[in-house]
Amino acid sequence: MPKTSTRKPISLPVVGDYPVAGKDYTLALPKGYLSVSQIEKYLNCPEAYRRAYVVGEKQETNSNLWYGSMTALALAHLHRGKYTPVKIAKEIKAHKKECDNWESRHSVEGCIGFVLDCMEAYQKDGVAKPRKNGKQDGVEEEFVIEVAGVKVKGVIDLVEKQRVTDFKTTGNASGYLPESSIQLAIYALATGVSNVGFKSFVRNYSGEYTKMVKDYTMLDLKKVRVWLERTVAEVARGISLGVFPLTNPMRNKLCCDTYCSFHPTCAVNWKRKIKC
Ligand code: SF4
Repeated sequence: MPKTSTRKPISLPVVGDYPVAGKDYTLALPKGYLSVSQIEKYLNCPEAYRRAYVVGEKQETNSNLWYGSMTALALAHLHRGKYTPVKIAKEIKAHKKECDNWESRHSVEGCIGFVLDCMEAYQKDGVAKPRKNGKQDGVEEEFVIEVAGVKVKGVIDLVEKQRVTDFKTTGNASGYLPESSIQLAIYALATGVSNVGFKSFVRNYSGEYTKMVKDYTMLDLKKVRVWLERTVAEVARGISLGVFPLTNPMRNKLCCDTYCSFHPTCAVNWKRKIKC
């Protein structure tokens, strides 16, 4: 049986009014909508959002991200009954050009080994039966919802009758807390399923599979709605008004994320000489 978190549901303060698109400001989003990754990028660093979505700068795919996409590919095949180790190894090799920046400890062969180990562990754990809803099997389920007058779109890794899951590949699963994840809150609102969580495939330093960590929590959908309305509204207003500080608004500090694909050219990279 999957482990369900015993943490209490998120407790949120009652918030006041939030800015409404079309009433308090004119909505102007680069894509005309927000996605989970756009919201997370803006909350983590508005400047990174500006570069990625307003300017359209190419975001580098490093080998860490690439390992994650290859695992997602294998999981999607597995849930659709189309997975075989030989087939996925061939596909991973075919995708190797999508990785722009290889860390010395990573390789195509290493990625294949990691993905096969993840799939073996996942199958031993018991592959969840996807929801039969007549239109899709619950794998990579698309959604569109409106929050605070803003269209929010996304794709959910796995939607079952009783729970919603997002898969992660990571070196350390402790940073993924379901109760404080805006991604899972959006998924809960989009599906009406309040039991949400992560299944994380954890790697060691060399990139080898170590373990699978599962963490689910029950969200209070009414409180989630309040939280999201306020947050999505503030993000949409910031983008529409062109507010892109080099600051992480949640942590109130200058952001300097060396994992950011814009770091080599960003002004916060202190090693870089700034031309005035
Ligand atoms: S390096 Fe830091 S401040 Fe610059 S865009 Fe990336 S996350 Fe933002």
